[in-house]
Amino acid sequence: MNDNLDHLFKPRAVALIGASAKELSIGNVIIKNLLHYKFTGPVYPVNPKVDEIRGLKAYASVLDIPGPVDLAHIVIPPPFVPDAVEECGKKGIKAVIINTAGFKEMGPEGQALEDDFLARAKKYGIRIVGPNCQGIINSDPAINAYCNFTFTYPQPGYISVVAQSGGVGAVLMQAFYDMGVGQRMYASNGNGSDVSITEFISYYGKDEGTRAIVLYAESLENPLEFIEVVRKVTARKPVLAITAGRTDKGAEASRSHIGGLAGSISMDLIFRKAGILAFTNQEELCHAAVALSSQPVPKGNRVGIITNTGGPSVIAIDELVSCGLVIPPLSAKAAETLKGSMLESASIRNPLDVVATAGPAHFKSALEVMMNEDQFDSIYLNFVTPPFVDCENVAREIAAAAKAGNKPIVCNYMTDKEKWAGTSKILNEGGIPCFDFAETAARAMYSLVRYNKILSSEKGTVRIFNDVSRGNVARILDNAKHMNREVLTANEVYSILEAYKIPVTPWKVASDVKEVVYNATQIGYPVVVKVDSETIIHKSDVGGVAVNLKNSGEIQAAVEKMKTALGGGMKFLVQKFLKPGRELIIGAKASEGTGHILMFGLGGIFVEVLKDVAFAISPVSDTEAMEMISSIKASALIDGFRGEKGINREKATEVIQRVSMLCADFPAIRELDLNPLFAIDDAICAVDARIIL
Ligand code: ADP
Ligand code: MG
Repeated sequence: MNDNLDHLFKPRAVALIGASAKELSIGNVIIKNLLHYKFTGPVYPVNPKVDEIRGLKAYASVLDIPGPVDLAHIVIPPPFVPDAVEECGKKGIKAVIINTAGFKEMGPEGQALEDDFLARAKKYGIRIVGPNCQGIINSDPAINAYCNFTFTYPQPGYISVVAQSGGVGAVLMQAFYDMGVGQRMYASNGNGSDVSITEFISYYGKDEGTRAIVLYAESLENPLEFIEVVRKVTARKPVLAITAGRTDKGAEASRSHIGGLAGSISMDLIFRKAGILAFTNQEELCHAAVALSSQPVPKGNRVGIITNTGGPSVIAIDELVSCGLVIPPLSAKAAETLKGSMLESASIRNPLDVVATAGPAHFKSALEVMMNEDQFDSIYLNFVTPPFVDCENVAREIAAAAKAGNKPIVCNYMTDKEKWAGTSKILNEGGIPCFDFAETAARAMYSLVRYNKILSSEKGTVRIFNDVSRGNVARILDNAKHMNREVLTANEVYSILEAYKIPVTPWKVASDVKEVVYNATQIGYPVVVKVDSETIIHKSDVGGVAVNLKNSGEIQAAVEKMKTALGGGMKFLVQKFLKPGRELIIGAKASEGTGHILMFGLGGIFVEVLKDVAFAISPVSDTEAMEMISSIKASALIDGFRGEKGINREKATEVIQRVSMLCADFPAIRELDLNPLFAIDDAICAVDARIIL
């Protein structure tokens, strides 16, 4: 990783290889954009067949350009790209944006061309953006680099964007523009052959002018590096991200519960592990970015509301409360002050309704008092622009209060933006995040609270258990691998669990009914007998589980029945029969590029029907394991309900962490399923387990 991208974002001069005089061509549009955006350095069109493009002298080759060049666009067809990169190297160019498409995505021939230009870039220390990308923008007035073929010209601002899809990037850029919100830097990195998303984020993280980072990513080249690097960034400034493709279930024909449930959620888990605010809606993400880039982070979730209209504040409260925010009452002291300063008809409480006729002085006092209330962490404002009020001066009071205080303000601003252009301008220049709807403003407020939670949340510690015996597990796995087996036998599975001190019910494996009976007497009645076969996945579905067998007669009958139903030749697992308890499920699934995905849930209908499970990427810290347990919807049931005893959270946390460590130690484990574990009294104990390599 090398996140010094100054040559790319702060070029002294830009060359365009493949510049064209044809107006409707990328080689022309990029020149137009650089000129229109008033790039502060020289622009050099490169084209051996023309003398001049848009009034600029054209050069036959970059080597003919008189001055130094930091950045070149390449827009010529793929076969010519490697040589063009070579020439850039000779010229001393350090950053190249390859807009041209038609490389790796086109098959082996394209891959060969890509390998070729990458090798040459490496030789000269050139960083490549793309291929198949738009490019970059830097709105810093000292640079004004619009090295991009899109059409939105952002004003300077504090939001920086990196998008794997130029289409999504352009939509986000236009959305900020339409809201009148400036942007700082932009990058569409297309195929991402060289400069990675991680490097862009790290660079934005170090950029003083960037206050919020927005990411669109469908996949990541190196998720572990991403998590490690981005975690450091999100500890200092917010990163907001959106992914796509979550409805694609990965088409996995799964042999375990975890396989089917984990689907393609791993991007969201990576985001969470990196401290990123994840969104599923582009508009909401944009609103949140506006709030996060303009407002201080609230210290908590307590909101003071000021409104000059009734209904929108009721709607706002609904949304705020359903997001987990709280609306505490006013202090007596504040109420007293406000009684003196508000209009007669004002309603002195939280929400504070200053009423529609309230003017600048009323807003000033309301803002002052609410901002100084210790029990509020943020101020939510509903501001409609009554035609009988000096709204511009109200806006000035709002802007002044935001500047003076250290609590965030979010505003639901209800107006005709043409008629109240002056008022809008004052709010905009005051950096007040304004939204058209109460719900939207409320959710933007929620994003601020979410970021505070990320900042203040403990990462926790990953427990290392020293009482495990890795050697035993390694031997079992090596042996299975040697025999080309993917599905482990009961004997292997329970031995592995025992080696990692993951509690299992007493068990023994038997080959015939005589041995089953013998084992049963060893374990002690009542027992459970299960078929042990590589090919049978859901044992109870096919009559392969007989529970609560109290004597040898019952065992014999059960075994006979299984043999008739399933044919002979199988082994049997004999287990101690446990009295019914609460059922839990814990699973793990290998995920490409990251640690295993771990899953926790309550068993039975909660997992089968409601799919109420929580996930995390291993290694799972104690905090993360506790979060998994408390984040399932049925979490309240874990602590007991109507006299039913609760589950020991500490023990559940420990089992999750032991499974996490087992998977981290043995990446060969593809899927691991403990379903169910019984939580009885204070103990937790696995009664069914499956491991697939
Ligand atoms: P499968 O999931 O392959 O159908 P299980 O081993 O999970 O088979 O058994 C099915 C169900 O039988 C479990 O969900 C549990 O309710 C019950 N069961 C299994 N083993 C025991 C046991 N040792 N004690 C009590 N009940 C058990
Ligand atoms: Mg089971």
